[in-house]
Formats: sequence, structure tokens, C-alpha cells
Amino acid sequence: SDSLGSLGKSRAKFISASETTGVTFDDFAGQEYIKKELQEIVKILKNQEEYQDKGIVCPKGVLLHGPPGTGKTLLAKAIAGEAGLPFFAANGTDFVEMFMGVAASRVKDLFSTARSFAPSIIFIDEIDAIGSKRGGPDIGGGGAEREQGLLQILNEMDGFKESTSQVLVIGATNRLDILDPALIRKGRFDKVIRVGRPSRVGRLAILKVHAKNKFFRSEEEKQVLLEEIAVLAVDFTGAELQNILNEAGILTARKDQDFITREELLESLNRQRGTFKTGQEDSSDVPQDLKIRLAYRESAIAVLACFYPESNRSFLETDIFSVSSKPNIKYAKTSAEAFLKKSDYINAIVRACAPRVIEEEMFGLENVTWVSAKSSIEALDCAERLILQTGMTALGKAFYRKYSDVVPNLAEKLGVLCAAYLAFAKEKCKAILREYRPAVEMITEVLLEKGAIKAEQIWEIYKKAPRIPQQAVNE
Ligand code: ADP
Repeated sequence: SDSLGSLGKSRAKFISASETTGVTFDDFAGQEYIKKELQEIVKILKNQEEYQDKGIVCPKGVLLHGPPGTGKTLLAKAIAGEAGLPFFAANGTDFVEMFMGVAASRVKDLFSTARSFAPSIIFIDEIDAIGSKRGGPDIGGGGAEREQGLLQILNEMDGFKESTSQVLVIGATNRLDILDPALIRKGRFDKVIRVGRPSRVGRLAILKVHAKNKFFRSEEEKQVLLEEIAVLAVDFTGAELQNILNEAGILTARKDQDFITREELLESLNRQRGTFKTGQEDSSDVPQDLKIRLAYRESAIAVLACFYPESNRSFLETDIFSVSSKPNIKYAKTSAEAFLKKSDYINAIVRACAPRVIEEEMFGLENVTWVSAKSSIEALDCAERLILQTGMTALGKAFYRKYSDVVPNLAEKLGVLCAAYLAFAKEKCKAILREYRPAVEMITEVLLEKGAIKAEQIWEIYKKAPRIPQQAVNE
């Protein structure tokens, strides 16, 4: 689920941050009782003084838990949208991922910013990343760091007591089991709501929400088809149901057809189920030209992984068994939290360019496909992270909110800077892949022949294959 990104270090950056989400409870379908409960809270938020006089206070925190894609983020946004309040979103992992010693101060920043816009909403997605049980197993390291961050959250929530204008904190997690019990003690997240997978009736309602902007032959046919999908899509989440309709729309457009029919719906339902992902046994079903593209993609990624090794993980192997826009390369578990330098970010952008660059090199600029799509998005994300969150670029040193308009022309400046980093990374990547083209070809050959290749053999080819000298790309 998307978040507005990290918040600024100084309030000045948020002076005009009065936006709300525009999401309403109508956008969330199924599980009506959840909406009823949350509507109560919205009512109190909107009429705080009136309720205070009656001795009714708004809960300080609402914890939404349930599997990913069930609409927790959507609900949080709907609360803000319905109450018309500013929405400050963060992800639990934002607090612990990048730097040491800043978890607590980031929490502080988040709360003080939200408080200066009170009444307002704070949303912390994946709150388990920072709020897991203290003294428990230290998954992923950074235990002390997390503990400081968690204590700060508890402090901030306890500190709300005296304040008159409310900041409602909404947390989301799919790991209620590992959450520190202190978080759900009274006066903190005292409302805990489970958001589950929808029932058949719920699935139909969700499908209807997401079918609103889609074309069917008739209203009657639409109703019949959605009912059928609702029956078949047992255990699907809201996000997965939405995907069925989106994908059906894409398939329809690809066929130059005006209406979504049963055929596209069933095909995308099956794809969602994962039948599209081929296993080793049936990889022969994958057309040869697609296999070749996948092999080049994986090979290019492998060469870049050798050229720019990462400090905190190493690759194990790759294959062409799984057919999706996501690369198949597998890594050994992160050993420690990365202490990332600017060059690490730039190298990551260069690495993420590899699938698109090799596709362009091999098949021509106009003949790129979805095979390299995911990595291209990753390159962009990575450039944005570098610019918005690290303070290591020309744009400055604060933590900006993604695409926010609180910094004058931020989107424009971000766009220009992003484009510059991406253009550089692409050129660099092209030069590397041209220099190592023989290695790329050799690894591709192994992949096409065997289906998979291990790190050891990749390294051997990388080191031994001839290289084609290139002109240097200016750093
Ligand atoms: P979570 O935060 O639980 O992982 P999200 O709120 O990010 O899930 O859900 C992703 C998207 O899936 C939503 O933006 C929405 O489009 C769709 N979705 C999920 N659940 C529902 C629902 N109950 N009703 C309508 N749309 C839903």
C-alpha cells in the first residue's frame, strides 16, 4: 500500500500541508460492520467539543490488522477523507531501515508535525516493523533502534492526554501476534479491528466498486459475471479482486474489444491464482521468444550484480522458470542493516536499469516489453528514495513527502532531478553491459539450456569472459 513517504524534519516544510485524502467509506466495500464502527469515530472527530461536553472522548489509536491487500490503508484514508482531516502517513520500516539513531527522532517529527495540524490523522503502516515485542527475537537486526522508536510512539500517545485537539493514530499490521502488547493497552491503540478476507457477498460488493469505470455489454451481463467471479474467487483479498478487473480490462483492450466478457474475467482470475506462474516442469509452455527475453534479463541483472556487489546481501542463483515482470534472481538473507552511501543508491539505480537496457540493446528501442517493466519502476523508485529521503542530493537535506506540494515546485524539481539520475544510470548501465556483452551472452546461453544458473558459475563467467572496451561514462 502506498504511503505519503517520510515527513519533513521541520514543520516549516508542512505549512501548507492541509490536504486530505479524498477517499470515502464508499470506496471500501464488504465488511459493513467495520465501516459502522469507524463512522462512529469520524463523528466524534468532527464534533469533538460537543462530545467532550458529554464526556465522550475519541479513541487515541485504532489498530487495523489483517492480511495484506484487505483495505487497511484504504480505511485509514477513508477516515481522514470522511472527517476532512490532514493525513500523515509513514511506514514502520521507514523508521528503522535507513539510518541508525534516528528512529525515535523520526517518530517525534511525525507526531509533532501532525500535532501542529491537529485535528489530524497519523497512519503508520506495517507498525510491527517498529512495534514488535521487546526482548523477542531480533528479526533483521536493529533491535535497540526499534525499541527506542517504539518507546517514543508510546510516549507520544500517552502525551496526548492533556491536549484538546485530537490526533488520531491509525496503525496497520498483518502480524498482530508479534506486536508489543504495550501498544494495545488502554489509552493507546484501544480500538483493535480485524480486517479480514471478504465473504462471497463482500467480494461481489468489492468487484462492483472496481467495475464502476469498466465497460460491459449490459448491466445485466455485468451483474451475472461479477456474481460468478465472486463465487469463484474464494479467499481473494480486495486488492486481488481489483486486479482481476484491471487485468480483464487490459486483456480486453489488447483484443481491441469494447466490452469485458466472461473470457477475460476468467483468464485474469486464473492468472491471479498464480497459474500464470510456470513451474520448472511446464516451462516448455513458455514461448521461446519470451524465454529468450527472460534469459537476457536475468543474465544482465546477474552481470550488474557482479559489477556492483551489494554490501549487505549476495545473490545465490537465478532462473527463467517463473514468468513475470519481476526478476527471478535470488539473494542470500540480509546479514546486517545496510549503512548506505550515495554511491550505493546510484549503483542500485544502475542495476535496476539492466533489464530495460538489455531489452533495448537486443530487441530495439521500440520493442521493449513488460519483461523489463518492474525493474524500470524500481529504478525510478530508487532515484526518488535517494532524492526525497536521504538528503544526499542537490534537492536538500530534509525528508520530503512524496509528490507533496508543500515544498514549492517539489514535483517538478523531483522530476528533473530524477530524470537526470536515471539518464546517467542508464548510460552507465549500457556501457557496462556492452563491455560485458560476451559474459551476458554466455550466461544467457546457460539459462536457455539449463533453465537456471548458480552464483558460482555466474562469477566464473563474469571473471573469465572477454570484455569489450568502452568509452568511460562521466561520473
Ligand atoms: P492493505 O493496507 O490492507 O494492505 P490496501 O488498502 O493497500 O490494503 O488495499 C489495496 C487496494 O485494494 C485498495 O486501494 C483498494 O483499491 C483495493 N481494496 C482492498 N480492499 C478493498 C475493499 N474492501 N473494498 C474496495 N477496495 C478494496
